[in-house]
Amino acid sequence: MSKYIDRVLKDVKQKNANEPEFLQAVEEVFTTLAPVVDAHPEYEAEAILERIVEPERTIIFRVPWVDDKGVVRVNRGYRVQFNSAIGPYKGGLRFDPTVNLSVLKFLGFEQIFKNSLTTLPMGGGKGGSDFNPKQSPHTPGQRCSDREVMRFCQSFMTELFRHIGPNTDVPAGDMNVGGREIGYLFGQYKRLRNEWSGVLTGKALSYGGSLIRPEATGYGAVYFAENMLATKKDNFKGKICAVSGSGNVASFAAQKLIALGAKVVTLSDRSGSIYVEKGLSQKDLEAIMELKNVARGELSDIAAKIKGAKFFAKARPWQLADKLDCAFPCACQNELDGKDAAYLLKHGCTVVTEGANMPSTPEAVAAFVKAKILYAPGKASNAGGVATSGLEMSQNSEHLSWTAEDVDNKLRGIMKAIHDNAAAAAAKYGHKGNYVMGANIAGFTKVADAMLAQGVC
Ligand code: NDP
Repeated sequence: MSKYIDRVLKDVKQKNANEPEFLQAVEEVFTTLAPVVDAHPEYEAEAILERIVEPERTIIFRVPWVDDKGVVRVNRGYRVQFNSAIGPYKGGLRFDPTVNLSVLKFLGFEQIFKNSLTTLPMGGGKGGSDFNPKQSPHTPGQRCSDREVMRFCQSFMTELFRHIGPNTDVPAGDMNVGGREIGYLFGQYKRLRNEWSGVLTGKALSYGGSLIRPEATGYGAVYFAENMLATKKDNFKGKICAVSGSGNVASFAAQKLIALGAKVVTLSDRSGSIYVEKGLSQKDLEAIMELKNVARGELSDIAAKIKGAKFFAKARPWQLADKLDCAFPCACQNELDGKDAAYLLKHGCTVVTEGANMPSTPEAVAAFVKAKILYAPGKASNAGGVATSGLEMSQNSEHLSWTAEDVDNKLRGIMKAIHDNAAAAAAKYGHKGNYVMGANIAGFTKVADAMLAQGVC
């Protein structure tokens, strides 16, 4: 490792000792940058690494709201505005009890490089709250009602609105923030500002959303994997795929995989995993999407209704199939560890494509890189979501709506460009086929050069 990287990493560890997810993300990126930092002494001279690890601004705020029983509840809200060198801050909002500053700084840091890879002018940011829409504060085992979610979102936006704007910071959805939440957040923003603007993406079609935005992250991950397979003159026909999660990213990745002739044998959620040896059908998948998005239930509720499905309570999906070709981790960070990676490699897996952010632990990443399989890190392979958010922003500013075909074609083109850029950067620095090095170097270089051009700021 270069002395410069070593020094900055030590300093980051000392300053952020209680932020393990953030440190994991920084270490993962920095340990791949030695060739580019060595070739560009100006990055050290201008303290690019020291500056890129420090958010430009972090906002932490109180979110008071009233539940259905009339009790006042208080959550903590955040927005980490990490880097605006190449465009307005852009990144999702996550509502989950696991949300804290470390998680949001890791996600915001990743977002800088992901957004840079999309080729669109978007900086990096992330936000959210420790609010849990899946657990009512007053009735154990029940979810928050729609009205409670609405009141929470309105209070959250009542503070956030003063920090964001279509040319400043454009949030989107992430875990537990889908169409319902974006609608409530947008309504409150519009009311407070007295203006309609494209300040959030992931909106419904009736008020400025883009076709294909809900599908984009999952479809994009599959398109990225298709590009990797094409380098081996291969495709998805007949491939056995394990997918984790059953939310937005997982369900649309599974939908596209089935459409391309693959066999999707697993899905999961916090209740456990389902395994279907013959593969899920599109009809099974529709029933699962209805369960997760409308009834807001758990996979354990539906497993018995899917023909041939076995349910494994609290289990992850990686070690259920005796043989498989591809894995798509699409649930959450650190959901695939070194033991899972060893199992996957031993049982035939040669393609791992991350739909989630940082789902593989450092041990798992090292195993995939060492085995030289086709391994796509999330910042490259799940960039289709934010890229399509960028397309939503363009449609909003031009007051236009593109067709689904237009957007899907643009998404395919962007995923191919991200794949090719990452592959080219890896080859240029002597690591052909290493998409981790390639994605980090390509994403970093563009932002670093923009920061150099803008002086010390
Ligand atoms: P959703 O909330 O729609 O779905 C998340 C899924 O993961 C759910 O099935 C959830 O289970 C499961 N899950 C979450 N935490 C755990 C856990 N600790 N153990 C087991 N299962 C878990 O989120 P998304 O699909 O939007 O996001 C998934 C991942 O993709 C995240 O890492 C996100 O940052 C990333 N991502 C999302 C993008 C997007 O456009 N939505 C864009 C780029 C990345 P349950 O239903 O039980 O809660």
